[in-house]
Amino acid sequence: MNEAILSAKHLTKRFGGLAAVNDVSLDLWRDRIHAVIGPNGAGKSTLANLLAGDVAPTAGKVTLAGRDVTGSKPEKLSRAGLGRSYQKTNIFLPFTVWENVRLAAQSRTPHAARWLALASSVRETNERAQRALELTGLQSRRDAVAGTVSHGEQRQLEIAMTLATDPRVMLLDEPLAGMGAAEAERMVELLLKLKRGHAMLLVEHDMDAVFALADHLTVMVNGQVIASGVPNEVRADAGVQSAYLGEES
Ligand code: ADP
Ligand code: MG
Repeated sequence: MNEAILSAKHLTKRFGGLAAVNDVSLDLWRDRIHAVIGPNGAGKSTLANLLAGDVAPTAGKVTLAGRDVTGSKPEKLSRAGLGRSYQKTNIFLPFTVWENVRLAAQSRTPHAARWLALASSVRETNERAQRALELTGLQSRRDAVAGTVSHGEQRQLEIAMTLATDPRVMLLDEPLAGMGAAEAERMVELLLKLKRGHAMLLVEHDMDAVFALADHLTVMVNGQVIASGVPNEVRADAGVQSAYLGEES
C-alpha cells in the first residue's frame, strides 16, 4: 500500500483579499504524524478546515483514499474515514463523557440504520464508543458530566469523540492547548499510541510535543509553506530559524 491516505494539492483559500492558505500541498500516510506549526494567523486551522470539508477551497484538490473529495461536506468525509478535532472544543458540556462519545459514534452510523435503530447497528455504535473510551483512558470518567471533568480530560474526550467515528485520518487542531506539563505528557503518550493505524495531521504549538511526535514537519507563515520535511532538518533550516523557531534554538 504505497499511497498517501489523504493528499492535498495546491490548496488555496481566500477570504476576500487575504490568502489564509496559499498553494499548500501535503500528504498524510498511515502510521505517520505530520505536524504543522506556525505563528498565530499562519493558516493552520484553515488548512485543517479545508481538509475536513468545513471550508471549501478557492483552488486546489483533496483526495481521500484515491478519491477526489474536493468540496465534500464534513458528514460525508467523516463517513469516508476522516476524523477531526477542533481547536475550540466540540464537547456538549451538560452531557456525560459517555453520552458525548456515544453521540460521536452514532454520527458514523448510516441514517437508515439509525432511524430503524437496528439492534446490530446499536451494538456496533456502543462498541465503537466503548473502544474510544478505553483507548483514551477515560473509562473511569464515563459517567461524569463533561463540564465537570478537568481541562486535560476534556481534551482527551475530544480525541475520544474523534476516535468514535472510526477514522483512518485524524486531523487534530492544538490538542495540547492550555495543558499543564503532566497533562501534556499524557496527551503525547496517547497520540503516540494512536499513530498506529491512523494517518494524523497535528497542528500544535508545543514544540517538545511536536519534536517527540512528528515524522514530518511543515512550517506555515502567512498562509504559505516555508519549509517541510524531516523534523530535525526543518529545525536546522535557516529560514525557519529566523521566521519562527529563532528563539527556540
Ligand atoms: P492559525 O490557525 O494558524 O492561527 P487561521 O487559519 O485561524 O490561522 O487563520 C488564518 C488567517 O485567516 C487569519 O488572518 C484569520 O483571521 C483568517 N481567517 C480565518 N478564518 C476566517 C474566516 N472565516 N473569514 C475571514 N478570515 C478568516
Ligand atoms: Mg488555529
